[in-house]
Amino acid sequence: MNMTTSSPHADSTTQMRDYLPVPEAAFGPALNEQGYYVGRVERNLFWVTDGTYQSAFLATPDGVVLFDAPPTIGHNLRRAVDEVAAAEGIGNTVTHLVYSHHHADHAGAANLFGDDIVRIGHAETRRLLLRDNDATRPAPEVTFEDHYTLRVGGERVELAYHGPNHSPDNIYIHFPDHDAIMLIDIVNSGWVPIYNLNLSEDVPGYINAPDQAMSYPWKHFIGGHLGRLGTRDDLVLHQQYIGDIIDSSNAALGSIDPTPYFVKYGANAWAGVAGYLDAVTARAAAPVIAKYAGLLAAADIPAFTTSTTFAILQSIRLDQGAGSQVHP
Ligand SMILES: [Zn+2]
Repeated sequence: MNMTTSSPHADSTTQMRDYLPVPEAAFGPALNEQGYYVGRVERNLFWVTDGTYQSAFLATPDGVVLFDAPPTIGHNLRRAVDEVAAAEGIGNTVTHLVYSHHHADHAGAANLFGDDIVRIGHAETRRLLLRDNDATRPAPEVTFEDHYTLRVGGERVELAYHGPNHSPDNIYIHFPDHDAIMLIDIVNSGWVPIYNLNLSEDVPGYINAPDQAMSYPWKHFIGGHLGRLGTRDDLVLHQQYIGDIIDSSNAALGSIDPTPYFVKYGANAWAGVAGYLDAVTARAAAPVIAKYAGLLAAADIPAFTTSTTFAILQSIRLDQGAGSQVHP
């Protein structure tokens, strides 16, 4: 019907679809007039959000240790640190910066804190940042392979690498004396992952990461995105969502016969592949979208759950070898 009423000059917003209201529980605290919120996690560990991205810092008597520097928060990181330092009666000098991983959307404001700081990250983060050669993300000089204990101002932070997941270099940042863990781009507390399991490179690693995080003791989860901190319950709900996609994908793989697609498209083999995989993906995603709509924010954005389902389906086929048939 819209075809007959639209014109080439129609506003593009007429194409925008509507979504369910975001569940109230998905939102965090209100932002201030500069567009950020800074709050205490526990004791002298603080977190900062602009509603979409998250960062954290430890305010110690010997200096401030910053964990990630998302460019969307940008200069508000400085304001948040200054605000807390003034309130706590300590210095506001950022002495250390820890990279969770090399991605620009979490690290692209790293250069705002000058060259006179100690930058720490995984060895792979250094390699990738040297490769990317982006002046906003100077490569860390202090690197580690498996574990690194950071001690500043009487505080202890445990950095650990447990293999690739969202990115090849993504680390676990545990604050044992603050009952908190920071693990970026795996679980969006209260929300579904965006496209392709949060744009993840290693699907089995991504799927396993919340289990790995749950093996640490903590109460507060800093996930890097959206407007609030997470809890262990948020990780459980995320795992249920992913688990349901895995179950649904296996069921769809077993229930759709590829033969008609290859018969129809004949010599155009890729058309057969596309028809079959699109059908399996759609069947696998549909019940998950229906189940989590209203429970996890953005579950009703079809492209998110559908592309995540596609990525998981391909991992089931390619990493696990499900459905492989050897020619007789
Ligand atoms: Zn990332």
